[in-house]
Amino acid sequence: MENKIDNNTPSSLIYLDSAATSFCDPLVLKSMNAVYEKKLGNPRSSHSSGQEALSLIIKAEETLKNYVNEEYVIWTSGATEANNIAILCPTCAGKLVTCKTEHKSVLLPCQHTPQENLVCIGVDEHGYIDMKSLEKEIHQNPRLISIMFVNNETGIRQPISKIGELCQKHNVLFHVDATSAFGKLPIDMKAMGIDMLTIAGHKIYGPQGIGALILSEKALQVIQKKPLMFGGVPQHGIRPGTAPTALCVGFAKAAELAHARMDNDYQHICKVQNTFLNNLKKIFPTIQKNGTDNWPYILNVSIPKQEKLNLAELLSKKFVFSSGSACSTGKPSHVLSSMNIDTTDCETFRFSFGRYTTLDDVDLSGLF
Ligand code: PMP
Repeated sequence: MENKIDNNTPSSLIYLDSAATSFCDPLVLKSMNAVYEKKLGNPRSSHSSGQEALSLIIKAEETLKNYVNEEYVIWTSGATEANNIAILCPTCAGKLVTCKTEHKSVLLPCQHTPQENLVCIGVDEHGYIDMKSLEKEIHQNPRLISIMFVNNETGIRQPISKIGELCQKHNVLFHVDATSAFGKLPIDMKAMGIDMLTIAGHKIYGPQGIGALILSEKALQVIQKKPLMFGGVPQHGIRPGTAPTALCVGFAKAAELAHARMDNDYQHICKVQNTFLNNLKKIFPTIQKNGTDNWPYILNVSIPKQEKLNLAELLSKKFVFSSGSACSTGKPSHVLSSMNIDTTDCETFRFSFGRYTTLDDVDLSGLF
């Protein structure tokens, strides 16, 4: 089945907001339809119809586990829920250490930790975490470190393997929000020293409403002690409720496609980002890219405000994009301000590219 889809929204705008959510791949839709058409039962039911659903969920779990090399999958409604479980469940003694540029679904649950037990590490002007401060904290045996892999506003990658190595050495639990990274770069939780990994289906051409927290044995033992939710037959004693069979299957299918195409997608998206940035530079020579060495899927730029020209309005005639994270719309970006980037006289844009963004899509001729 041909699954190339065009990158236009129904109103014929070009979609440059894949970091907020991506369209569902037709092959993913097909895999989910096949599940719905089977008219299966509840995966917790002991009859054959329930057991068939359960076997599909177990197969989907195997797929995810294989890609990240870890043991336990907790299905969630998305990355927000996975992050909340990872942050709020480990209640053992010690500090919680995170970073100022994390997603709000990490920063806000962190605020439920008493102030004296919370450490929020800063970043440099390029968006990289202050490793010296982080190392100092790791040496003091905190109860949890939570650092994201790829920043959803700037595309900056944190040195996860290096942090994981330190955490392993000091036996510190390490959570990574890999929502913008999973399916786009290889992740080996064991090799990278990651105990908990947050991922979501809708960022990789899978369905919305499904995510997962993937756990090591060590993390499972800690999380099980104080679950957040209560109800019937919780997954690994942590998350109750009926797992959505079709969404689990669709997420696994999206992961399979993303891993099969990882290199091709990367090469293609590098070209798309470079072309788009060069096209913007021709029109706005003073444009500033926020963050260096960003992952090419996400491009964050500031353009000095133009006299008599509302750039956002003009770009909206052709593109769908965002000014920052979809979850913080309208507010000044905590990520850019943590990087000391002054956006007062600028308009700031986050463009994010996907598998189906073409070079023609990012052509600006005729717009200005
Ligand atoms: N973490 C990161 C890095 C994200 O980009 C997002 C989505 N903007 C989330 C968490 C929350 O994801 P979800 O919408 O699946 O809850």
